[in-house]
Order: sequence, then structure tokens, then C-alpha cells
Amino acid sequence: MTTLPLLTPGRGDGDPAAPARRRASMPPRHLADLDLAGRRAAVGDLGAQAFRANQISGHYFGRLERDPAAMTDIPATDRDRLTGALLPHLLTPVRELDCDGGTTRKNLWRLHDGSLVESVLMGYPDRVTVCVSSQAGCGMACPFCATGQAGLTRNLSTAEIIDQVVWFAGVAARGELPGCPPRLSRVVFMGMGEPLANYPRVIDAVRRLTSPAPEGLGLSQRHITVSTVGLVPAIRKLCDEDLSVTLALSLHAPDDDLRDELVPVNQRWKVAEVLDAAWTYAERTGRRVSIEYAMIKDVNDQPWRADLLGKLLSGRLAHVNLIPLNPTPGSRWDASPKPVEREFVRRLRAAGVSTTVRDTRGREIDGACGQLAAAEVDA
Ligand code: SF4
Repeated sequence: MTTLPLLTPGRGDGDPAAPARRRASMPPRHLADLDLAGRRAAVGDLGAQAFRANQISGHYFGRLERDPAAMTDIPATDRDRLTGALLPHLLTPVRELDCDGGTTRKNLWRLHDGSLVESVLMGYPDRVTVCVSSQAGCGMACPFCATGQAGLTRNLSTAEIIDQVVWFAGVAARGELPGCPPRLSRVVFMGMGEPLANYPRVIDAVRRLTSPAPEGLGLSQRHITVSTVGLVPAIRKLCDEDLSVTLALSLHAPDDDLRDELVPVNQRWKVAEVLDAAWTYAERTGRRVSIEYAMIKDVNDQPWRADLLGKLLSGRLAHVNLIPLNPTPGSRWDASPKPVEREFVRRLRAAGVSTTVRDTRGREIDGACGQLAAAEVDA
């Protein structure tokens, strides 16, 4: 059992001998929390001309520049004041690890209140993808997940989510990923947290990431994936957002008995309800729903479960992504053996369901969500 830290240096709670305690709290406002109109208003409130908001936004989103000294088109008299108010420091790297020949990078960040979150950058010959966290910790309590064992610390702000992407977009743009394109093109909300439990900020982040510069980063909505364990009202709300992001549903079991245990939120919204909401999303957007299924040895990998899953998904706009489990240290859960995995794939495909096995980037750097934060807290 690990816990994400709420403790940071300093004095706390009236006991002079007590270790410092700082409560989890949202960060200061950042320009990425605001749309362009909001930034122009904020700049006006600071006594500057509104177009300065466009200039600072252009540096941050367009040039991936966050150093005020490099923003020489803004007079020095305004620069520090405006960047101080609109570009507060949000993410401090605590650990940076890489593997796969430098094409996979994982960062552990400390937020302003001491909370820890992780992001992973994955470079391929044709694309660069970042996996971001949407919450510090997670309240969904999936028993096989390191983050789930730690509980929820707090939601991330819109800007804390975006800043993970912008940071890594800068890494790609500087050509630091060997053999990969210099432009970050995809974002997956599959790091720490349940994205739809932080709904308004995640939706804001999606809108900003997909707005053209200087409003945002100019990514394609189709290159953004939002995952969920199945918060049905939030999925239904997403259907009305007029977005064309990919919805990834972490199903992990096709039957309620097992899913109640593996994904405790299933006790509230059952498999049939969750899939019904997912099919509504597929119909509204024309987008294939990605069904995420962690393959756990002797738990959810039986042939009859493959057949049941195939039956549920056959004829639907869905794709199954099987994920070889990356066991957390000391966990009782283990990955399915390869022959079992292959038979699972065979049965799904025989049912006419498009199925792939996800590549397991970053295993040697604690690639599963929450593992790096857990290691840092345990250290
Ligand atoms: S698997 Fe995802 S939703 Fe479940 S506890 Fe972990 S981070 Fe939260």
C-alpha cells in the first residue's frame, strides 16, 4: 500500500514539532486555464493592451516557449508582470526516465502543493504521443492499479493537464526523440486519474489542445483519446459536446460479477449500461470506441470471457485493445501468459471484433500508471 503525499516541507497545524503539512490545493491561474477572450480580459485587468495576451499565448502554444526573457516582442516593463500573472510555474520535474533508445520518456512532476503526477512521452517513426494525468491520484480504487491503491488527492487544473502536453511538445520540437517527428500529434488521457471524474477541466483541456495557436496547441480532435472506467452520466454528457475525440472504455471484464471487483464503479453502473452509453457516443460521433482490457492471469483471461466479450461487441463500432498487465511490485495480479493472450485474441477476432494487443512501452521505467509516483513515495 502506498500513499501519494500531502506532506511537504514547512510547519503545520499548530504543533511546532509537527512535520510540515500543506493541504492539496488548486494552483494559481495560468493562461491555459482561460480561452483567448479570458486571457485578453485578464491582461486588460493588469493594465496592458489586450493584444499582449495573443503575444504571450503565441509564445506558449505556438513556439512552446515559457521563458519570459525570450519574449522580446513584449516590452521589458510589461513582460515580467504579465508572464508572472499568466505563466506561473506549474510542474517541477522530480524524476525523468527514458528507455526504448530514448524514444520513451516518463516524467514524475511535483505540483505546487506537493502532489505528484506522471506523464509518459512515446515517440514512433510516424507520430509522437503523450499520455497525461488528469488527477493527482484516483478515487476509482481499481485493485490492480498502483494509482487506485493510493486514493484521490485532487483534480488537476486545466492548465496542469495542458502543461504536461506543452512540455513534451517542446521535447519533440527540440528533436530530442531519435528517429521521431518533431511535432507532438496525439494525446491520450490514460495517466493517473479518471478523466471524466474531472469533467469540466478535461473538456476545457481538450478544447484548448485542439484550438489553433495562439488560442491553443492546434492538435486534431481525432488524435485525442479520453479514457473512462464507465461514468455513465459523464459519457452521456460527452455525447453532447460536439467533440470527435476517441472514447476509450476501460472494461477489463465482460460480466458484472468480475467487473464489480476489478472496476468498483461497476457496482454503480453495470456493463450493459456502460456499453449502452458507449454505443450512443459511437453513433453520435461516428468514432470507434476503444475497449481497453487488461489481461490478468487466471482472473479475466478465460476463453469463455473472450467469447462473452465477443458477443457483447460483435457488430458494434468498437476496437479491443488488450493490455498485458504490468504488475505493481508485491501485487497478487500478474500478466496473462502469451498463449492465453493469443487465444483470447483469436476468439475475439473469430467473433468479428477488431482486436490488437497494446505495445508495452516503458515497462522498465515503471510504465503502468501510478508506479513511478508510488516508487517515489516509497523511496
Ligand atoms: S485504473 Fe485508472 S480509473 Fe482505475 S484506479 Fe487506476 S487510474 Fe483510476
